[in-house]
Order: sequence, then C-alpha cells, then structure tokens
Amino acid sequence: MNFKVPRGTQDILPSESWKWQQVESIIRDVCDNYRYKEIRTPIFEQTELFQRTVGDTTDIVTKEMYTFTDRGNRSMTLRPEGTAPVVRSFVENKMFGYPDQPVKLYYQGPMFRYERQQAGRYRQFVQFGVEAIGSADPAIDAEVIALALDVYKRSGLTDVKLVLNSLGDSESRNAHRDALVAHFTPQIGELCSDCQSRLEKNPLRILDCKVDREHPLMETAPSLSDYLNEQSASYFEKVKGYLDDVGISYELDPNLVRGLDYYNHTAFEIMSTAAGFGAITTLCGGGRYNGLAEEIGGPSAPGIGFGMSIERLLLALEAEGKSFTQERELEVYIVTLDEKAHRKGFKLLNELRNAGVRADMDYMDRKMKAQMKSADRFNAKAVFVIGEDEVEGNTVQLKNMADGSQETIEDGAIIEKLKEQLK
Ligand code: ATP
Ligand code: MG
Repeated sequence: MNFKVPRGTQDILPSESWKWQQVESIIRDVCDNYRYKEIRTPIFEQTELFQRTVGDTTDIVTKEMYTFTDRGNRSMTLRPEGTAPVVRSFVENKMFGYPDQPVKLYYQGPMFRYERQQAGRYRQFVQFGVEAIGSADPAIDAEVIALALDVYKRSGLTDVKLVLNSLGDSESRNAHRDALVAHFTPQIGELCSDCQSRLEKNPLRILDCKVDREHPLMETAPSLSDYLNEQSASYFEKVKGYLDDVGISYELDPNLVRGLDYYNHTAFEIMSTAAGFGAITTLCGGGRYNGLAEEIGGPSAPGIGFGMSIERLLLALEAEGKSFTQERELEVYIVTLDEKAHRKGFKLLNELRNAGVRADMDYMDRKMKAQMKSADRFNAKAVFVIGEDEVEGNTVQLKNMADGSQETIEDGAIIEKLKEQLK
C-alpha cells in the first residue's frame, strides 16, 4: 500500500519550513508593532456559524466546506476562514466589555476548503489574518491595510498593489441590488446556473462569478459606487484620505465585491503584479463587517480585518525572484574518531548548547572524511576534532572553517576560544 499526501494539501519539508518560520516571525513582529494580540480558536466550529456569517449563497458555504457529523450528531465544519470564529469568540468572551477598544486580534493557522487544486489554491492552507473589532473610525481601516502591506514589505515583496472599493452600508447595497436585478434579469439565461440562482438570493455575487467574468453584461453592470448614499460615500472618502496621508497608493475597482456576505463599506485586495505569478494574483483580501457581531448574537461592534495565505506570499516571493536570507547556519560541528572521543564529544556538545551555541555531531559512526563533509554541508563555522590524543591530553582540535587554520585547545578554554572565533 502506498500512502500519499491528500490532494490539495502539502507537506512543508525542512528545506521549506524555515521560510515559513521567517514569515511567522515577521507576522509576530509586525502585529506587535501595531498592538494586535494573537487569538487561537479551534480548527472546527458549528457548521451554522459559517452558514450564517459567510453566507448561504457563497462558494465557500455551497461547495467548499469540510462538514461532518460528530458522534453526538452535531454538524461541525473545519474552519474555511478565520473571521467568523474570531467574532464568535469576541462575542462569547464578551470582549466588547474590555476597557481598550477596539479589540485588535490576529490569528494564524490552517483553513480548509474543498477546492479544485491549482497553483496557489489548496484544500488546506495557512491563513494569517487580523481583526480590529469595536471601532468605526475610518483610520482603523487604513491601519489594517497598512499592516497587511507591511507584512509583504518586510518579507521583501515589492510588486504588490492595493485595490480598493466601498460596498457601502445596507441602504446603499439595497439600492444597488435593485439596479443589478433590473440589469441582469432580461438576459439572465446567458449566465451560468449559479448566477441564475444568485440573481434572486444575492445578485451582488454575480459580479464575483469566475465562470461569467468575461460576459459583456459584467462590463455594463451598475456600479456600486454610483449607489453609495452620502454617509457611505463620506466614510469611503475618509478612508482614502488616511491612506493618502501615509503615502499608500491604491487602485479603485468598483467591481471588487469579495467572496463573503458579511462585508460592507471598505473592501480591499492586495494583488501581486509580478510577471509570472500565474492566474491567481490575489494575495490578501479583507474588508469591513459592521453588523457581523450582532448577526451572531452579540452587541453592535463594527469590525474590519483581512486574511492572507502564507502559501501565496511565498509564491509571490518566488515569482519576484526573491528569497529570505539564508537559514541560520550551524556554528559548530563535532567530529569524533572513536568511541571514547564520541563520549567526550557528546559531553562537549551538551556544554556548547547550554552556552547557546548552535551545534551538532555525527551519530552514524562514520569516517572522519564523511563527518567533515557534513560539517561543510551544514556550513559550520568551526569544527572540533576529537581523537585518542585529545581524549588523553584533555584537549580538542579547533578548526576554523573560514581559513582552514587549526589549533589545540585545553578543555577548560573551549567556550572562550570559540566565542572569540565566532565573532
Ligand atoms: P479566491 O477568489 O482566490 O477564491 P477568496 O475570495 O475565496 O479568494 P478569501 O476568502 O477572501 O479568498 O481569502 C483570503 C485570502 O486567503 C486569499 O486572498 C488568499 O491569500 C487566501 N486563500 C483563499 N483560499 C485559498 C486557497 N484555497 N489556498 C491558498 N490560499 C487561499
Ligand atoms: Mg475562493
């Protein structure tokens, strides 16, 4: 029997995992700068949470959820996204009562969507996201966008652009909705069956259709920007003003509607503009979701957030021909020539590690030459060689890998000498 990694998932091998750790540490750093605190929610939630918030007509809920019945006969779903669980937790833990509002949270972890596998699209992917809940200040919209861009910038990406739209409040959306129905109804037969059912349930979703995106009716569809009421338009102006003030440029796209039902007002995506990035160019998607907390039984608490996958960040980096600085290298490798030397080497290894030195040794009983080759492959800066003479004389041979020089060192002076050499 041959087992394989499930379709749409991947093993992150040691040759790649250090890059993930780099991104994770950038994320922690940036969130720390902006005072966002980490929240960890379960991998699965009640199915209804996603049905109610993400929306019954969205791709996620209709086709992509990993839903199962547990042994207590409850319907559970592996989380397809992070916002609903975080807002659920915000409400359940009464974070609206925290003295410092808005509550600024970030999360990072696997999400699950049953999708057709392609480059940048997985069935299990790792999403990093932030949520700022409790403020309707347009400046916080700009802050959240700036944070996302900062993560890309610190990762080394330069070919990214911000695309912005406003979905307005519910009054604006209703007016736009009526206009969309009037626009699509006469020729709805020309669109896909999904779009036909969207027309009644949620016509805005038609604009987000991946099948019909080239249909001429899309070009001429009524634009939300023409239906924003005064309040929504003024909110959007302020968000743009804050972005302008901090020198963040953006492109306006009136057809950017985002894939989830709970969004209103600010909606944004960050795309890669790197040549050769492939068909999927969206790195990050986010927006405002005033009303979501109420929808799941909490008090009114306006919020905004985004989600981005680490997979797409790393793909974008590759597409730009960039990479992180090398993995941290080994400082010391210990080469031992017989069993007694091995025992001495192991003790020394332990001392080195206790002194905070990155060190390793051979555990395969190999010849000296093979051990030296390993030291080379690990890019060790120094090598300790221990043989019969060194065991007897209470010394070690210290080889400097940069210039090849070698000297005999008394056991008592090892750490001191090494620190000198590593400088
Ligand atoms: P798309 O239009 O690409 O399907 P979406 O609207 O479903 O995106 P969101 O739900 O907004 O995406 O998710 C936010 C971010 O999460 C995306 O911008 C992307 O970085 C990432 N993402 C979403 N689905 C996947 C996936 N299947 N594999 C990898 N990353 C994903
Ligand atoms: Mg999707």
